[in-house]
Amino acid sequence: MIGIIVVSLIAIFAIIWIASIPWRKRQQRAKICAEPFPTAWRHIIKRRFPYFHSMPADLQLQLKKKIQIFVAEKEFIGCNGLVIDDDIRITVAAQACLLLLNRRTDFYPKLKQILIYPDIFWVENQRTDPAGVVSAQKNVLSGESWEYGKVVLSWHTTVNDAADPHDGSNVVIHEFAHQLDQENGPANGAPPLRNITDYPSWSAILDKEYRTLCVQARTQQQSLFSYYGATNPAEFFAVVSEVFFEQPLKVNELHPELYQELSQFYQLDPVNWH
Ligand SMILES: [Zn+2]
Repeated sequence: MIGIIVVSLIAIFAIIWIASIPWRKRQQRAKICAEPFPTAWRHIIKRRFPYFHSMPADLQLQLKKKIQIFVAEKEFIGCNGLVIDDDIRITVAAQACLLLLNRRTDFYPKLKQILIYPDIFWVENQRTDPAGVVSAQKNVLSGESWEYGKVVLSWHTTVNDAADPHDGSNVVIHEFAHQLDQENGPANGAPPLRNITDYPSWSAILDKEYRTLCVQARTQQQSLFSYYGATNPAEFFAVVSEVFFEQPLKVNELHPELYQELSQFYQLDPVNWH
């Protein structure tokens, strides 16, 4: 009898504990946000992330709060001898949190660790050809986003991309756009949207633009977007996200429907910042 009572109590406590996780997380985040933003971190943003200065004041403030939570919750791991410090943490966090502004977000919930290499890195993937033959393929990368728990970045590329905020190329925005896409399964260019009614126009416009880029890449026609976006719809979403943040005027001018979709998704209108 006592055994049954003890087991029941443990079960009840376990249920309460699990049910209170979102509440405790909110409490913890509110506590982190109440802390002042460290002066040293402000200097890092000033030095490493010139994009910040083109943002409206309310979004700058919001970004700083998001950086505080991101840095508190994610683990940074240095690879190949790289030592992680605040310079690395804040430079990555500032760019990753850009994608979370104004949105209902759980801060990349699947992501646990950010692995940073000093420079570009090699990865070995298995590749199956049309005849079914599996072979190992070595690729050199500046960033990689895994569906479960990891983003991998080159620090050299991260710093260089942050230093030029208007060239339409940014490895951190690219990989964290994949993370958003991976919130509801493998990356496929269809991240979770705010409303179910948003999906038809999202898929129609992104598909149309993706097909246009595929033709441009095949025929070597000029495009605002890197041909790499023609790899598949997931890469297309990551590539157009980079350009949306860094060259919003051009996206709005040349691809107004796509700009509208991305503006609605990111809940931002960067055309008005630059
Ligand atoms: Zn990618």
